[in-house]
Order: sequence, then C-alpha cells, then structure tokens
Amino acid sequence: MGKPTGFIDYLRELPLDRSSIARIKDWNEFHEHMDDTKLRDQSARCMDCGVPFCHTGNLISGMASGCPINNLIPEWNDLVYRGLWREALQRLHKTNNFPDFTGRVCPAPCEGSCVLGINNPPVTIKNIEVSIADKGWDEGWIKPEPPTRRTGKKVAVIGSGPAGLSAAAQLNKAGHNVTVFERADRIGGLLMYGIPNMKLDKSVVDRRVDLLSKEGVVFLTNTEVGRNYPAENLLREFEAVVLCTGATKPRDLPIEGRNLKGVHFAMEFLQGNTKALLDKQLDSVAISAKGKDVIVIGGGDTGTDCVGTSMRHGCKSLVQVEILPRPPEARAKDNPWPEWPKVYKMDYGQEEAAAKFGEDPRVYLTTAKKFMTDESGNLSGVHLVTIQWTKNDKGQFVPKEIEGSDRILPAQLVLLAMGFLGPEQPLLEQLGVERDARSNVKAEHGQFTTSVKGVFAAGDARRGQSLVVWAFSEGRAVAREVDRFLMGSSDLP
Ligand SMILES: Cc1cc2nc3c(=O)[nH]c(=O)nc-3n(C[C@H](O)[C@H](O)[C@H](O)COP(=O)(O)OP(=O)(O)OC[C@H]3O[C@@H](n4cnc5c(N)ncnc54)[C@H](O)[C@@H]3O)c2cc1C
Ligand code: SF4
Repeated sequence: MGKPTGFIDYLRELPLDRSSIARIKDWNEFHEHMDDTKLRDQSARCMDCGVPFCHTGNLISGMASGCPINNLIPEWNDLVYRGLWREALQRLHKTNNFPDFTGRVCPAPCEGSCVLGINNPPVTIKNIEVSIADKGWDEGWIKPEPPTRRTGKKVAVIGSGPAGLSAAAQLNKAGHNVTVFERADRIGGLLMYGIPNMKLDKSVVDRRVDLLSKEGVVFLTNTEVGRNYPAENLLREFEAVVLCTGATKPRDLPIEGRNLKGVHFAMEFLQGNTKALLDKQLDSVAISAKGKDVIVIGGGDTGTDCVGTSMRHGCKSLVQVEILPRPPEARAKDNPWPEWPKVYKMDYGQEEAAAKFGEDPRVYLTTAKKFMTDESGNLSGVHLVTIQWTKNDKGQFVPKEIEGSDRILPAQLVLLAMGFLGPEQPLLEQLGVERDARSNVKAEHGQFTTSVKGVFAAGDARRGQSLVVWAFSEGRAVAREVDRFLMGSSDLP
C-alpha cells in the first residue's frame, strides 16, 4: 500500500469530461486525462485490502462483482503511487491484453465492489487503468513481442471482437499460427462498429490490431465464414477453430407500423455512422438524426450510444423510452455491497441531451404501442403508454398498461435498442454445433469445447450479449484450452 492514510487524505476525483455542449460538436473522445500527481493521490486511496474484492471477479446475484479478468488492481495502484509506471503496465498486461479498451468502456464492476465503497466513494480504478495503458503507448513501452518459437499448429478464430482478439493474442503468444476471419471491412467487432468513437476512438483499436499483425496474427477482413469462405474448409485447413462470432441478433418490436420508413435497429444506425465517419463520408450517412424528433427505445448501453450519436447529428428533440422503473439514488436494501450497484446515473448521452434540451431524456415504466404514420406513409410519431409491473398467476412479473396514460410523441426517427437475442444461427447450423436453450453455442465455461471436436466457442456467442471484459476473460481462457488441446498441456495463464 502506497500510503496508509491515503483514503482519508484524498477525496475521490476523476478528470472532468469535456463540456457536453462542446463535445456534441465533434466525434472525439469525451474523457480528459489527469496529471500524474493527481493520479498518484488517487492510487494512494487504495487500501491494499486483505481480500481485494476489486480483483475477485465473481458473479453475485447474476451480476459481475469485481474484475472478470482478475486484474491485479492493488498491485498496480501501489506501483503508480511509487511512480513505477512501466512496472504497473507490466502488471496490467499480465491479466489484460487490452487495458486501453477496458479502461475506456468497462462499466467497472471492480469499483462497484471496492471495499472502500462500503462507506466512501470507491478508488478510481478504471481511470488509473486507462492512464497506465495510455502512458505505455506515449512512452513507447508497448511494442510488438512476437513469439520466439512457432509450434507449426494452425488455429482459425472466427470473429474479431474482444473475444476473438484476446484469443488470437494469447494463441499467438503460445506460438501457434493464428488466422482471424472477420466479415466486416474493419477489425474489432463491437469495439469498432458498436461502441461509438467518442467513447472509444477507433485509432485506439487500430493500433492494437497493428501490433498483433506485427506479432504474426493474420487478419482476413470482408471474409464471412459460411458465405464467402466455406465452413467445411475450416477443419481441413486448421487444427482448431474458435467461434467468437458474438450475439448480434437484435430484439425486435413487432407492433403496428414497425415497417415504416424511419424505424431502425440501433446497430444499423451506429454501425453506419462509424463506417461513414471512418470513410470520411459523414455528410451522406444513410440514417441521420439531423433535424429530427428522435425516440430511442431501450435504456441500456446501446440506447445511450444512440442518444450520443443523435445529439452529434443535431437532432431536434430526443426521448429515451425505458420499460423498467427509475433506479434508486443509492443502493437498495436488497442490493448490498459488493454486488453491482443498481443505482440511477446519467451516462454520457443523457448528460448531453440534458445539457441541450434541459432534462434527462429517459422516461421510465413506458413502452411503445404503435408507430404512427403521416399521409405519405412516413413515420410521424410513437404511441406510448405507461405501465406498471404486476405478478401474473404464475408469480412472474409482467407489464400492465395504466389506463388513460396513452400519449403520442412526434418522431421521424425511431431506434430500437432493446437488447440482443443471441448469435446468428446460419454458421452454427453449417458447422453442426449444439446450441443451448437460449440459442447460444453450447460450450461449458472453463472448457469452451463445443459438440464438434476441435471447435471451441467464447464470448457473446457462448454466453449471450454481455460486456467487453467478459469477452476478454473468455478469449484468454479459451486460448488456454485450445493450447492444451493442441499440445497436451499449456503454460498460458
Ligand atoms: C452498441 C453497443 C455498445 C456496447 N457498449 C459496451 C460498453 O460500453 N462496455 C462494455 O463492456 N460492453 C459494451 N457492449 C457489449 C460488448 O460490446 C460485447 O459484449 C462484446 O463486444 C462481445 O465481444 P465478442 O467478441 O464476443 O463479439 P462481437 O464484439 O460482437 O464480435 C463478433 C464479431 O464476429 C464477426 N462475425 C460474426 N459472424 C461471422 C462470420 N460468419 N464470419 C466472420 N466474422 C463473423 C462480427 O462481424 C463481429 O465483428 C456494447 C454492445 C453494443 C451492441
Ligand atoms: S478493494 Fe478497493 S481499496 Fe481494496 S485493494 Fe481493491 S481497489 Fe484497493
């Protein structure tokens, strides 16, 4: 522990984000950096706990509590306090191939379970993590480290999201020849085409992909296995296959008017926007919110990204519809530490909408009944209704409309961000891998083997839509199992 009284001497402090009104004029990251002296003070708040819950990575009440990749948080907090940044980076890389991604986009279950959080604001773990990673790049400490020997074994990784990237990085480290197949035109999965640029700048993804290429990983873009690369070739050309294809099937809202022009899935909007931004064709983006009344249906991360993107397009008004109740300001009695705190917070998108339009754009306990049309057949509004959650005769909670709460809000653009139903099925059917009851690839956690010998699965394709940090955790773990399968044993962590 750097300073025994650090948690008493210093208050929790984060770098200020760029002002909401200024940042919606561009697509740059909204977080600012903190100087080293302040970071040192923040790391001094860590108590180097006997049982560091930040590091444990358990599932409690179905939610992550602590770091799912078991980052050695108290160790690198101490190293930052001592000014030993390079050693801190080495410690960080022991458990995490890409701390520059988690340091930017992870919801930080480590902070939710930090022991200091019992009666004080928790240590700013996530900000310290990203600062270590960014310093590593700025100082030139992060360099290609190709393996010193090759095993001659060939492994195919299908999908280049966080699960595929971490699996590829680890398998390459073990000396295998890794080829990553990606159907999109750029590498990164949802890191590239889901999470928008203002949250994770795409140059941050590209520099890691470039590093992996220099270390020997081969990336094939515009290559969809099962469409323009035959699935049956995989096990002929490779000794092992890792399915990291994600859980990209969106949940639909099949109500009247669903087919109207102007109602889109969130991912059509977000993916199209990032591609246009990177291709420098933003002026002709296919789905634009400019000058429109926008309604986002869904209050999660994807919905927030739709809010932030619509704000940058210059929407006329914005409402975000959430079917659940507004969370409490502080932990409820049935949500104690070290569980993930289910509390009300404004994310970046809501902050921006509130700064421009005067209030949090979210309306709770609300659902859409019908999409309305004008005389020309275009979307003109959404019929909304307030609900309450009641128990049915089987004891399950179901939404019940509140009579007289109907209202119609104007909308020329509706974005459906209601979560994902699981992986797309065609490739899984072609390979003949078994699925579980939720249509995910059936592969036990810890082993990651599917019903087809030599075919493994990890990330959202196996567990359903989740978090980047779980995808990293599974990518690293599946690499160890593949290495064991190929070599009889594995030294991979
Ligand atoms: C809009 C949005 C925002 C999010 N924001 C956050 C966040 O802020 N923080 C967080 O922790 N999590 C966030 N998530 C969740 C997180 O992005 C995912 O849990 C994570 O990316 C899953 O990683 P993955 O590698 O399993 O799959 P993915 O990232 O989905 O990658 C799968 C890849 O496989 C490719 N693919 C699929 N089929 C084939 C095929 N047949 N051939 C070749 N390639 C194929 C796809 O094109 C894709 O690139 C967000 C999700 C969304 C949708
Ligand atoms: S739980 Fe919090 S205070 Fe304890 S070691 Fe982890 S970061 Fe430090």
